[in-house]
Amino acid sequence: MTVKLEMVAFHITPVCENRCEYCYIGDTGRNAHPPYSKIEKIMNELANQDVKNILLGGGNPCTYPHLEDVIKLGYNLGFNIDIISNTLHFQNRTILRYISSFDATILGSSAKSHDNVARNEGAYNHLISNIQKLINDGYRIGVVLNATPKTYNNLFLTMKNLSEKENIPITSIRYVMIQRIIPQGRASYTLKYGLKKEHLGPLFSDLEKIRQTYALKIVFEDAFPFCLVEERFHDYLSPCVWGYTKGSINWNGDVSRCGADPRFELGNIFEKPLNEIWNTSPILTSFRRKAWVPQECRKCPLLEKCRCGCPLSNITMGDHEPDILCPYSAICSDRHIKNVRLQITDQILKNESIMIKDEQKKM
Ligand code: SF4
Ligand code: SF4
Ligand code: SF4
Repeated sequence: MTVKLEMVAFHITPVCENRCEYCYIGDTGRNAHPPYSKIEKIMNELANQDVKNILLGGGNPCTYPHLEDVIKLGYNLGFNIDIISNTLHFQNRTILRYISSFDATILGSSAKSHDNVARNEGAYNHLISNIQKLINDGYRIGVVLNATPKTYNNLFLTMKNLSEKENIPITSIRYVMIQRIIPQGRASYTLKYGLKKEHLGPLFSDLEKIRQTYALKIVFEDAFPFCLVEERFHDYLSPCVWGYTKGSINWNGDVSRCGADPRFELGNIFEKPLNEIWNTSPILTSFRRKAWVPQECRKCPLLEKCRCGCPLSNITMGDHEPDILCPYSAICSDRHIKNVRLQITDQILKNESIMIKDEQKKM
């Protein structure tokens, strides 16, 4: 059966003014924007492959000097265009009408805590003033919040702050989207930004407060094991659909299953058409077969809703593993970290020995 890719997160640039320590893009190659000719080719190819929806991301897509051309081209190609940014700063406001939805990532419950995470003084005020401009122009925004061990119980406070201190009308907010931080990019090899089981109760109570106080829709982009969340909160949750209807592509045309996986190892759309990659990649085939899901989960009545949570919540060299919080995963996190370190050390040693041999050949 063909798997149809309905939405592609297109990372048009790695550049971003912020320097979050858990940034999924990582540290390398963050200073230069890709040429527009490359982005244009990718957009045309996405249209050829019948992709209908694109989410422009980065880095910060609003820093991209040719954003206006990207948006106009996307509109002419018939894409439904969404954008996620940590500034929502648009030089040319006439392009706003071509964008269907705007999402802003708010990193903390005050200017100080946001700027601390972003490691960029003034980042919060800059973002808020741009949100206010959008709202004054009649647009509504999605608020994206990261649930981490530092923020899991103050997301309500973030919304309260937006409403009461920043005077952002709740009616101008389309939804609140909750994200988890995975150990990739700058957060590679650490679980310190990932939620623990004991955070889940307070997190969902905090979200319930947002829902009850502001009647806002809460959306989860990232999955959680259903069995760890009280049943009354199950309507918040959804399975990870990345690898089925959603996928991710970077400024070089490299494809990833998950929008927050910077390794882009499924293939390149200039070597193989996107739909072919999406339907023949051994990584995706393995992901969809679910053989990686623990035995107990395979028998679980909630499996189709849960799909064993977030497949990239654990430290892994692969693309999918049971959620780090899954009660049936055989992987103890400490032991796992050690194993991954051993694998990596092994790989480094192998690479070094290849390099030494190459050097010896040259001599
Ligand atoms: S996580 Fe987002 S805001 Fe933070 S540095 Fe990365 S791209 Fe920028
Ligand atoms: S693997 Fe799925 S649930 Fe996990 S971060 Fe990626 S999109 Fe979210
Ligand atoms: S599939 Fe596994 S992780 Fe998900 S609810 Fe069932 S037992 Fe829990």
